[in-house]
Amino acid sequence: MPDTPTHFDLIVIGAGPGGYVAAIRAAQLGLKTACVDKEKALGGTCLRVGCIPSKAMLESSERYEQTKDHLADHGIDVKTVKLDLAKMLARKDGVVSKMTGGIDALFKKNKIAKFTGFARLGKDKSVIVIDEKDNTQTLTAERIIIATGSRSATLPNVDLDDPLIDTNVEALAYDKVPKHLVVIGAGYIGIELGSVWRRLGAKVTVVEYLDRIFPGFDFEIAREAQKTFEKQGLVFELKNRVTGVVNKGNHVLVERESGEPIKADRVLVAVGRAPYTAGLGLSTLGVRTNDRGFIEVDKDFQTNVPGVYAIGDVIPTPMLAHVAEEEGVACVEKFVTGYGHVNYDVIPAIVYTHPEIATVGKPEGALLEEGVEFNKGQFFFKANGRAHALADVDGKVKILADKKTDRVLGVHIIGPRAGDLIAECAAAMEFGATAEDIARTCHAHPTLSEAVKEAALAVSGRAIHS
Ligand code: FAD
Repeated sequence: MPDTPTHFDLIVIGAGPGGYVAAIRAAQLGLKTACVDKEKALGGTCLRVGCIPSKAMLESSERYEQTKDHLADHGIDVKTVKLDLAKMLARKDGVVSKMTGGIDALFKKNKIAKFTGFARLGKDKSVIVIDEKDNTQTLTAERIIIATGSRSATLPNVDLDDPLIDTNVEALAYDKVPKHLVVIGAGYIGIELGSVWRRLGAKVTVVEYLDRIFPGFDFEIAREAQKTFEKQGLVFELKNRVTGVVNKGNHVLVERESGEPIKADRVLVAVGRAPYTAGLGLSTLGVRTNDRGFIEVDKDFQTNVPGVYAIGDVIPTPMLAHVAEEEGVACVEKFVTGYGHVNYDVIPAIVYTHPEIATVGKPEGALLEEGVEFNKGQFFFKANGRAHALADVDGKVKILADKKTDRVLGVHIIGPRAGDLIAECAAAMEFGATAEDIARTCHAHPTLSEAVKEAALAVSGRAIHS
């Protein structure tokens, strides 16, 4: 353990996007800050086994598929395309270590004391850090932020310790392409990772209990996404509950409520994430959790124990890296400036498949349910010049705006670079923009963003190119 002072203004437990960003912002604001993580590599789930490696694999697998199947459309003749999976995985690992190393550098720059070891809450706002050699060190602080994140959830009779039953951690590192991969759960993690392995040659079957994919996303967009993924070769079994997975030695049987068990060589469990607080010692201080194990906080992110705060995946807010970051910043800014907020009404969410799917604000179904009157404007990428230049014309932009005020209530996009296009929409919504504001903003030509402008024009029935 380094010879570091043991009393701090702030100790952050967990160095994921919530924790490391909170630590950096606290240090910027002049707080003497420590951050503890049980893993050597900083960055949490997001950098080590989540957002970053999955996007690296999505990018590589997409390039492989494009080269193999679609470059010919551009008049580029490639004779043999071979997959070098080991190299693809090594590139992904390289991206991860570059990013995690970057956080180390930021900690040094901001003079944040880094502790590597498992953190346990002690009495009187102390944190006991236990390193891999079982050495312990006690730190104390005025305030503690718990940012311990989440882990993969599972189902009854599905044992995550089984060598053929995987989570995102294993599915980001298969050393050979599975012949048949069954994905349990049609959320974004399952479909992103399912797409990676389908592109690389696996048969992929996605089994989902609900009657739709991407719960929480706009239904129409999700249905369109499903059709596209089916055309690409993903097989969906919706409205079917997995009742167990049995390891048969060299294969598994995925048992479900209806139909014969599905034989597969691997199973990826992607049924959501659960808060991770194991061994943290919440009960030592009496920190309250809800019935699903999430830590309860007030509007300042303070738990029921004064001076102990929680942010990120471990609290019951959307489980996304950028939400964790916003919460980390708002939480520490409140300590120092008395002000800080997260606007949960304007949280973009993106699925990084091809096409990408991006959303911000309310889905159409939610507005209908709430009885909010709205106008809807849509624009299809097949009428956008840049989309044709890219040979990527599937999908559309859909804008929902309040019928009376024209204020934008939700934007839902499926199509090329949807994840980048949604940023403009989120900024517009954050400033309380109307569809007219977006429509009157000059968008460069030829860009995909013109589809956003046209959808905004379509809200009042005056799209130019459709
Ligand atoms: P985490 O990132 O989980 O970090 C928590 C940290 O706490 C970990 O480093 C852990 O080691 C440490 N820790 C836990 N307990 C202790 C302890 N007792 N002592 C010391 N350290 C401890 N989100 C997006 O926004 N975009 C995406 O594209 C995206 N893709 C994803 C893909 C996958 C496959 C997965 C699994 C998740 C993805 N997510 C994505 C979700 C995102 O990773 C999480 O929302 C985000 O990491 C939450 O940040 P956090 O700081 O709350 O927790």
